Amino acid sequence: MPALLGKLIIEGAIKAVTGLRIGGSSTGLKIGGVDLNVITDAYGKPYIPGSSLKGKTRHLAERLYNCLPDEKGLHLCKTNENYKKCPVCRLWGTLGTTDFSIPTLTRLIFQDVPIHEDSITEEMRRNMDLHWTEVKWETAIDRRTGTVLHGSLRQVERVPAGAVFGPMRILVSLYEKDDVDLLKTLFESMALLEDDYLGGMGSRGYGQVQFQNLKITWRSAEDYRTGKDGSLIWEGEIAKELVKNFEDIKSKIRLREESL
Ligand SMILES: [Zn+2]
Repeated sequence: MPALLGKLIIEGAIKAVTGLRIGGSSTGLKIGGVDLNVITDAYGKPYIPGSSLKGKTRHLAERLYNCLPDEKGLHLCKTNENYKKCPVCRLWGTLGTTDFSIPTLTRLIFQDVPIHEDSITEEMRRNMDLHWTEVKWETAIDRRTGTVLHGSLRQVERVPAGAVFGPMRILVSLYEKDDVDLLKTLFESMALLEDDYLGGMGSRGYGQVQFQNLKITWRSAEDYRTGKDGSLIWEGEIAKELVKNFEDIKSKIRLREESL
C-alpha cells in the first residue's frame, strides 16, 4: 500500500436554489399525510447525506468521461490497466471489487451536510407547512390524454428554496504523486452538479444547488505528524472557479517537505 501524502480538505456550504428533496424512509407514518418524506437526522432536521453527494458526483463524472457501464448499468473498472487510467474509479473507489492485483484505494470522503438553521427564516416559515420543510402536491400526467394519471397524486416533502446546508466537508486523500491531477475530475463533477440536480424530481425543477464559500486546505502527512493545521490554499465562490483555478490550486499542494 502506498503511504499517505496528505489530505485536501474542501469546505463550504451548499445552497438549495430550488426546493430540495432527498428521500427518507417512505413510511408515511412519521408525518401525517405526507407520502414522500425527506431524510432527517436524529433531531428531525433535514440534511444532505454524504452518500447522495458521492453518488451524484460520481455519476456526473462517469458521464463526462464516458466511462462505460457494465451489464448492471454501473461503471466499474475490472482490470489493473483500466483502473490506472480511470480518474473515476481512482477517486470514488471500486465498490469492493477484488479483481485487482494493484492497491485500489477510495480517495474521496463526502461527509453528511447538516442544514444551516438560520437559513430558514421566520418569513419562510410563515409559508411553510412543516418546521423545516414545505409540502407540495405532485402528480404524474398521462401523456396520451394530457390529464392527471388516476391515483398518482402525492404529497411530497422538500426543503424550501433558499435553505443552506453547511458546513460541508469533502476530503481527498492523496497517495501517489499523480493523484493531484485527479482533483480536476472532482472539481468538474462539482461544477456539473451546479448545472444538474441533487436528490429527486430534478426534471420537475427540484434540487438545483450551488456551492458557496469554498475553501481548500492542504494538510500534508508531515502536518499530521507534527499536529499542524495545514495551509489554506484557495478560497472561492462556486465550483466552476475550482476548475478554472485548477493549475493554481495544484501548484500549492506540496506533496513532500523537500519540495518546499
Ligand atoms: Zn473506472
